[in-house]
Amino acid sequence: WFSKAAAFRAVILGAPASGKGTMSARIVEHFKVAHISSGDKLRLHMNSNTELGKAVSKYVLSGKFVPDDVMISMINKEIELVGDQNWLLDGFPRTLTQAEKLQKEHPVNLVLYLNVPTEVILNRVKNRWVHLPSGRVYNVGFNSPKVPGKDDVTGEPLSKRDDDKIEIVQERLERYSKATEPIVTFYTSLGILNSFQGNTTNELWPHVKETITKFMS
Ligand code: ATP
Repeated sequence: WFSKAAAFRAVILGAPASGKGTMSARIVEHFKVAHISSGDKLRLHMNSNTELGKAVSKYVLSGKFVPDDVMISMINKEIELVGDQNWLLDGFPRTLTQAEKLQKEHPVNLVLYLNVPTEVILNRVKNRWVHLPSGRVYNVGFNSPKVPGKDDVTGEPLSKRDDDKIEIVQERLERYSKATEPIVTFYTSLGILNSFQGNTTNELWPHVKETITKFMS
C-alpha cells in the first residue's frame, strides 16, 4: 500500500474536428473513468431549463464563451459529484483563468493534448458531406457516396453542414489555438502535458492508451 497509483485527474485538449470526442469516448470506455464534458453538461442544463441553463443559453446559442466564474462553479460541482472516481475533463478548461482556478481547487495531474495538423482538419471537413434529412455523413476518399454528391439510399443531393463551411472552420481553429496556447504553456510548466501528434484517432490511440496505462500502473 506504499505505492498506490495516483488518482487519474485528466484533461483532454484538442481543436474542433480533431477527434477529441471520439478519443474521449475510447478513453472512457477502455479505462472506465468518469467523463465530464462541459458542452454536454451545459446542454443538459438548457434542456431541463434549470436556473443555470437559463443563464447560459444566450452564450451557448450564439457560440460565445460562458463566463469563467459560471463555468468554474459548474465544473467544481460536477467534479465533486463524481467523488473519488477517476475523471476526464472534456471542453474545460478553455481559458487560462479556468485552468488556474481548476488547479487550485481540483489539481489536474495528466493532460492529453491532441495535436492534429490544421491542414488535416481542414481536409477532413472539406471532404465531409451530409444528407441533411437523414443525417448520413460521407467522407470523400474514406467512405465516399456511391454516386458523387448523391445520398446512397435516397439518391437525393448531399450538402455541407453550415458549421463545416471552410471559412467558418478556419475561424474556429484560429480562435481555438489562440485560446489554447496559454493553457498548453501552463500545463507544460507544470510538467503534466502529453502531446500526441498524428492525423487520425486510430493513429493516436495506441500512444494515448500507453500513456494512460503507464500513469495508472
Ligand atoms: P466550439 O464551439 O468550441 O468550437 P463545440 O461545438 O465542441 O466546440 P462544446 O464543447 O460542445 O462546443 O460547447 C458548446 C458551447 O458551450 C460553447 O460554444 C460555449 O458556448 C460553451 N462552453 C463549453 N465549455 C466551455 C468552457 N470551458 N468555457 C466557456 N464556455 C464553454
